[in-house]
Amino acid sequence: MTTKRRDHSPRQLVRPIVRKLHGYVPGEQPKVPGLIKLNTNENPAPPSPKVIRAIRSATDERLRRYPDPAARPLREALAKFHGCKRENIIVGNGSDELLALATRAFAEPRQAGATTRRQIAKQTIQYFTPSYSLYPILADIHGARRNEVKLPASFELPTNEALQKSNWNFSAALSYITTPNAPSGRGYATSDLSKLCAAQSGVTILDEAYVDFADENALRLPKRFPHVIVSRTFSKAYSLCFQRIGYLVGHPVLIGALDRIRDSYNVNGLGQTAALATLSDIGHYRKQFEHIVQWRTKTTGSLEALGFEVLPSQANFIFARPTGITAAEWFQQLRVRKILTRWFDAPKVRDWLRITIGTETEMRKFLSATRAIHRSNRPP
Ligand SMILES: *Cc1c(COP(=O)(O)O)cnc(C)c1O
Repeated sequence: MTTKRRDHSPRQLVRPIVRKLHGYVPGEQPKVPGLIKLNTNENPAPPSPKVIRAIRSATDERLRRYPDPAARPLREALAKFHGCKRENIIVGNGSDELLALATRAFAEPRQAGATTRRQIAKQTIQYFTPSYSLYPILADIHGARRNEVKLPASFELPTNEALQKSNWNFSAALSYITTPNAPSGRGYATSDLSKLCAAQSGVTILDEAYVDFADENALRLPKRFPHVIVSRTFSKAYSLCFQRIGYLVGHPVLIGALDRIRDSYNVNGLGQTAALATLSDIGHYRKQFEHIVQWRTKTTGSLEALGFEVLPSQANFIFARPTGITAAEWFQQLRVRKILTRWFDAPKVRDWLRITIGTETEMRKFLSATRAIHRSNRPP
């Protein structure tokens, strides 16, 4: 008797939905000496000396123990900082982890038999494009329906009336809105977001990763609407990308749902220590934010003087459209000069370059390189 030969192809072991996935493509992190890195929206300044001291003094024999599973002291400090309760806050391994948990807690995976509008809405995750390129990937990983809604050419937030005429779904299970948005840098007025939230019935996450550089924030909206959650991170503004700390502020029922499905030790101990120390030294960071905003204004003015178009930014980066050269050429020629920016090869955004605001020295070098590139490409 012969035994049937088994199929050991590892491909067959992977779920079809996972086999087809395209993972998130992070910005490059090359280790080139002297490189000016203006491509991933990191704060160019180091964390405050207090934060570095706190991390150093926590690296001792305590490393063998599990960290606080509920990040309680950090959540208490954040609650005090934002004038809410500990129950309104969940901390994650970066806000990316929390955005992913939200897909699992609030949206149903796509089911073939769904036909009613209500069933379809329950399986829908939606967001504007262009925006944070992680959202479609999170929806795909979860197997939910994706609803992408195009922003107008100005990249402004559409009014409810305009959304009613678009494919926006006012009942979608989960909507992500980045504010200020990336890569455009545009801030959305809280009064406009409030109108949208009032008309929306599903969970709405306002991703405020860049809000520390903006004139206003939307924290009052989760206080007013139980379906609205604000997402924040220590990564960008607080120079803690390496430590992976983000958090959400929202209604205790939604926060509690996320809390039930997270890993028990989702937030590493040194990260909790670093974030707590950051909150005790906020003044240090406020000064940095002012400096970054000043250089955002100066860089915008200098590029406009060359005839480039620059969108008004509320973030720590600008979105600029060159004249005389394509954005792709500008990107390449900066790269040759060891200045890294971010260019997205996608419709509507490929004419633009996203430039993170770096230190004063870095921005001066960026501007003089840009002037040289612009001069050498001008027709004689
Ligand atoms: C960087 C970024 C995040 C992720 O931040 P982490 O806390 O580092 O995971 C989330 N949303 C937007 C829009 C971002 O740009």
